[in-house]
Amino acid sequence: MIFGTLLKQLISRPATNPFPVKYMPKSVTGVLKKVAAGQAAIHPPVPTPKDLRGKIAYDRETCIGCGLCEKVCPARVIELYKPEGEEKNKIRMYVARCTFCAQCVDACPVNALATTEEFLLASPDRFAESLVVE
Ligand code: SF4
Ligand code: SF4
Repeated sequence: MIFGTLLKQLISRPATNPFPVKYMPKSVTGVLKKVAAGQAAIHPPVPTPKDLRGKIAYDRETCIGCGLCEKVCPARVIELYKPEGEEKNKIRMYVARCTFCAQCVDACPVNALATTEEFLLASPDRFAESLVVE
């Protein structure tokens, strides 16, 4: 049984691809410079599967500020706040903490939250513009 599994693993195609480049470069910065100069290409990531739970998108206009998403979020990603001069509460999401469980999406009564296919989110700065949604 164990040998069967081993053989299957040896001949099956990997689920991942050599992203972002085929072989580990000596210098990542060097590769990025080459890419910027058009001398090298980055492998595209594998196609995302249907219904991938990627970065959560927030429709600020649709949001009624009920705070349900904040209540159900297990990772305390969501902060409810009252913007100055506005009647309704709005939310701010710190994506670096998100576990992509989509409970907030399910809880929102007005569909102001949605999963997206965006998953390349790594950044050395957890408060980077791309990682704070509001
Ligand atoms: S997907 Fe899950 S962890 Fe991320 S903000 Fe929504 S409820 Fe929180
Ligand atoms: S659950 Fe939906 S409507 Fe309520 S605060 Fe969150 S995003 Fe806004």
